[in-house]
Amino acid sequence: MSALIDQLKDLLGPTGYLEGADVEAKASSGWSHVGNPPLVLRPATTNEVSQIMKLCHEAGQSVVAWGGLTGLVESARAVEGELALSLERMHAIEEVDELAGTATVQAGAVLQTVQEEIEKHGLILPLDLGARGSATIGGNVATNAGGNRVIRYGMMRDMVLGLEVVLADGTVLSSLGKMIKDNAGYDLKQLFIGSEGTLGIVTRVVVRLRRKPDSQDTAFVAVDSFDKLPKLLDLMDRRLAGTLSAFECLWQDFYKLLTNEPAPHTPPVEQDYPYYVLIEAMGANQQKDSERFELALEDAFEAGLIVDAVLAKSQSERDKMWAIRDDVGQVAQNWPIFTFDISLPVKDMEAYVTEMKDRLSSAYPEHTAMIFGHLGDGNLHVIAGVGDDSKDARRGVEACVYEPLRARGGSVSAEHGVGLEKLPYLAYTRTPEEITLMRTLKNALDPKGILNPGKIFSAQPLRSAAE
Ligand code: ZN
Repeated sequence: MSALIDQLKDLLGPTGYLEGADVEAKASSGWSHVGNPPLVLRPATTNEVSQIMKLCHEAGQSVVAWGGLTGLVESARAVEGELALSLERMHAIEEVDELAGTATVQAGAVLQTVQEEIEKHGLILPLDLGARGSATIGGNVATNAGGNRVIRYGMMRDMVLGLEVVLADGTVLSSLGKMIKDNAGYDLKQLFIGSEGTLGIVTRVVVRLRRKPDSQDTAFVAVDSFDKLPKLLDLMDRRLAGTLSAFECLWQDFYKLLTNEPAPHTPPVEQDYPYYVLIEAMGANQQKDSERFELALEDAFEAGLIVDAVLAKSQSERDKMWAIRDDVGQVAQNWPIFTFDISLPVKDMEAYVTEMKDRLSSAYPEHTAMIFGHLGDGNLHVIAGVGDDSKDARRGVEACVYEPLRARGGSVSAEHGVGLEKLPYLAYTRTPEEITLMRTLKNALDPKGILNPGKIFSAQPLRSAAE
């Protein structure tokens, strides 16, 4: 391996890699466990990524791509001598094409930087999530990121028009097209979106942009029973004529955690209700849109779907509402915690949550369970604490969360991916035939198994339902 390391260092020059204490500093900069690789490669060009992969392919050396290190499922963890390849030096926004409504961006660009640059052109990249200040565009593609505006604009997959990817053997696959319609054979880019770095390394992306909305209306509302949540969503969606952009639900425990000391937020509505929703619409005419938004909320009151509501009357009030929703870090108050990211049909959600909570209560009477999520996408985040972070506790809590989910045909990962953390449960959501085809694709694109090996599924075929 030392010969390969020397070759890689020669290739990249002194600014092109990190080792020793610099690796430790880099590895601890994010939220997740990413291991302690002997070398972090920092290529500056697609050609350098290609040269790195050629050398590593020849030597059978495994490589883990690193973006902003904000993932939550250990997708970026480098284990046992695996090298990390950080795209951090490839962060240029190469082009914003206002007419086509596209931007060409290098993989290491930070999401928030890209958002801000694009807004200067009167356009938006609608992807938005709490980790925007660190997460990178390449990581967003590799994990098919979701976030707060999926209900209106879809996930990252829906915003990618073109990709440049370096394959395991160093081949550069460039399909940086800007066309929305392009049915010339297989849509190969889709293979790499959400593949968590196991099929190729994303180096450049053409993203689809949208016109920047001229109006924004935001409200924080309280709801007194679960069955009213989907009815409220339906009513707002109908009344707002396609402008509904966020419908973020918070269960009472989570709302109280966020709006009581030591959290810095004041509650916009009283804390006595079981459910809260942050509703937002984005349109084209502030005055008319605000009238329509308020009328929709009045209808919701009259229909008994909401029991309390506060409208944001200024940007600072809107920011305060979003600051509550985005302050997920407050769950650290319940440390140690286990985080979940599940999806299931909305009609099954209430029964699911009841069963999951019952299971947690009987196994761990002292547990905490914070629930919030993107109800319109059928996506719930569950953050459970049982005062113990041993492997046994983790498996116990996972059983409480996943068994009732499996019975209802839900997904063990709505938006965070599988990585190492959810790998034992992939078969709860995917059939053996689906997993076999995933392995076939992996073997075809990466026959030596050097790209982020061991993530999503294990190299060996499944023997039982849960590996
Ligand atoms: Zn989310």
